[in-house]
Amino acid sequence: MIDLHLHSRASDGALTPAELVQLAAARGVRLLALTDHDCTDGLAEADTAAHAAGIEFVPGVEISASWEHHTLHIVGLYIDAENPQLQAGLARLREIRVTRAQEIGRRLAARGIADAHAGAQRLAGGQVVTRSHFAQYLCESGHARTLNEAFRKFLGRGKPGHVATMWASLEESIGWIHAAGGKAVLAHPLRYDMTRSRLMRALAAFRQAGGDAMEVICGRDNHDATATAAHYAGRFGLAASVGSDFHNPATPWNLPGIEAALPDNLTPVWQCS
Ligand code: AMP
Ligand code: MN
Ligand code: MN
Ligand code: MN
Repeated sequence: MIDLHLHSRASDGALTPAELVQLAAARGVRLLALTDHDCTDGLAEADTAAHAAGIEFVPGVEISASWEHHTLHIVGLYIDAENPQLQAGLARLREIRVTRAQEIGRRLAARGIADAHAGAQRLAGGQVVTRSHFAQYLCESGHARTLNEAFRKFLGRGKPGHVATMWASLEESIGWIHAAGGKAVLAHPLRYDMTRSRLMRALAAFRQAGGDAMEVICGRDNHDATATAAHYAGRFGLAASVGSDFHNPATPWNLPGIEAALPDNLTPVWQCS
């Protein structure tokens, strides 16, 4: 079992990096990456825990990128987290997150939801504030029953708490990952709210900007989705990655660890030189 897309408390995951590694190891994962949003703070702890558990660790990050008014997530794997260019880029994205979180708070306040910014900051525990933390606050304060409902009613595109954000360009995010010696992987390609033709253009733009791979098996996606993603990877000459995008043990349908059975014609990203 392999898992190259997971979150810890360094961004919007529920577990500490060490707890996450221990859970993955207990589930039989032998190769694991930590990929927090725009942040590498959890990597050292995860590396130590993986060493102790006898499993192979891949340092990673999930970078927020913008392409044609869409947000794309670019996972960087095998990164040197000390790389100054990468860290300068991530620092810029975290600054954008600070301003954006304030604005989300203002918009929710205008809708009669008080203290959302402070609540999200508290739930983030001093780390990167994401919409997940706002969603948790909206549940906690009784404005939504589930995280999904919080996104549907308040935080998703076109909803009152949504703030259009200019993240890094594809060229920038892929450039930072390459500067840090890593591989750039387009995360969860079938989960962007895009028409098929737009997704084809996004994949072409990702490839054109130097992207190396895309996720072919994503968490709880079904067999059809995997077959579709495998077809796109072949068509665009991208290597294949697998990841759960695990955040929280409270969603037991999406736990760490993927049976990595990729089609023979695709190169697994963990076998790229
Ligand atoms: P952000 O990067 O701050 O825009 O937050 C994006 C994160 O919100 C994603 O990485 C997911 O963890 C979470 N998220 C997005 N949509 C949903 C949803 N419908 N239900 C639960 N979590 C979601
Ligand atoms: Mn997340
Ligand atoms: Mn993502
Ligand atoms: Mn993710």
